[in-house]
Amino acid sequence: MPLSGNEEWRSKLAKLPVPLAVSSDPLSMACLKSLIEEGRVSREQGISLFENPSLSSVSSLADMVKKSRYGNNVFFNENLHVNTTNVCVLACRFCAFRKGPRHPEAYSLDIDEYLDRIRPLSESIDEVHTVGGLHPKWDVNDYCTLFSATKEEFPNIHIKALTAVEIKHLSKTSSLSVEETLSKLSEAGLDSLPGGGAEILVDHVRDRICMGKESSQEYLDIHSIAHKIGMSTNCTMLFGTVESIEDRVTHLIRLREQQDASKGFQCFVPYPFLPDKTRLPEAQLATGSEIIRVISISRILLDNIPHIKAYRMNIGDKLSSLALTCGADDIDGTVGHEEIMHVAGSSTRLDTSTDQLAALVKSSGSIPVKRNSNYSVFEKYTTSNPSYSRVLPQIGMT
Ligand code: SF4
Repeated sequence: MPLSGNEEWRSKLAKLPVPLAVSSDPLSMACLKSLIEEGRVSREQGISLFENPSLSSVSSLADMVKKSRYGNNVFFNENLHVNTTNVCVLACRFCAFRKGPRHPEAYSLDIDEYLDRIRPLSESIDEVHTVGGLHPKWDVNDYCTLFSATKEEFPNIHIKALTAVEIKHLSKTSSLSVEETLSKLSEAGLDSLPGGGAEILVDHVRDRICMGKESSQEYLDIHSIAHKIGMSTNCTMLFGTVESIEDRVTHLIRLREQQDASKGFQCFVPYPFLPDKTRLPEAQLATGSEIIRVISISRILLDNIPHIKAYRMNIGDKLSSLALTCGADDIDGTVGHEEIMHVAGSSTRLDTSTDQLAALVKSSGSIPVKRNSNYSVFEKYTTSNPSYSRVLPQIGMT
C-alpha cells in the first residue's frame, strides 16, 4: 500500500473483509456495492445514512473506504496558524472571531508582526495557515507584499491562505476579477487556499447564518478558478447551525460535482458550530455521535475528494482520535496557535508536540505519516520520545 493512497481503492474495497455492522445493514451493503461497482452513493442514500439508526454500520463502512485508500496510514503536517486581522466588514451570526475596527480587541498584524509569529518555528514547520477578517482597507497588494516578504525569508514554507470570501473581498477592494486576484497572489507566493467559509452551500441557510457572504455558487466558482490556475484548495462544512439533513447532503453533493468538474480539492474538513460566546441561539448543535456520523458520511459520499480531515482544533483530540477509525485519514497538524475556534470555545491544546500528535494517531490503531502540504511527500513518523510509546496494536492492513 503506497503511503499516498491507493488509486485502485474501489477494487481494494471489494477485497476487504466486511464487518458484521456493515453486512447486517441493507443500506450500508447497498452503498458498499455502489462504491465497488464504480457507482455513486445517491442523494437519497445519503439522507438515509443520516437517518440510519445504526451509527456503527455507517462508521464501519466509512472505515472500510478509508482503509481501501490508505490502509492504516493517517496523515498530518507540521504547521502554524497565523491570523492577520480580526477586523471584518461582515458579521456572520456564528462568528465569535470578528471585531469592528474600533473594538478594543481589534487587531491587524503588520508584516513584521506576521513574520515574528513564524520566526520561532520556521525550522520546524513547513506550512503557515493564514485566514482573517475582511479588512475594509486592505487590498490585494497588501497581501502580495505580505506573501512576498514571507517567501523571501522562508522560501520553504508553504503558504495556505485566504478563504473564498477573502478572495472575493480582495477582488472587490482591488477592482480586479477573481482570476486576476488569484493570479497576482499566486505570483507573490500564495500556494493554496484553505476551505473555510463554505458553511452550508445552500443559500437559504447562508441567508440566516452569514448574510452578505459569498453565495454558494460564488464559493464554488472561486475554488474552481483557483483549480483552473493550478492552485489546490480544501473545502469545509460548518454543520449544527440551522441546516437540515437534506441541506447537509446537498452541500456534500455540490462539492462532489464541483470536484468532478475542476478536480482541485485536496481535503474535506467538516466541523460543527461551537456555540460559546457567539450569536446563534437557535442552532441545533451537534452531539459527538452526530460529528462522527457527518465525518463517516463525508467519506462515503465524497468518493472523488482524496482526504477527509479530523479537525482537532474544533472537535478536540478525543473525538479526532475516534474519527480516525470512522473515515478520516488526515488530522490537523501541530498548529501552535489558533484563534478562530478558541475564541468560539474550543479548548484543544495548542502546544501539542509532533510526538504527542503521533501518539494520538497511534492510539486509534493507525500509523502516523508526516506529509507536505500538497500530499506529495510522505514519511512514516517515528516517535523520538519513548514516553509517548503507548499504542494499540495495529489491526489488519499496513
Ligand atoms: S466568518 Fe469570516 S467573514 Fe464572517 S464575520 Fe467572521 S471573519 Fe468575517
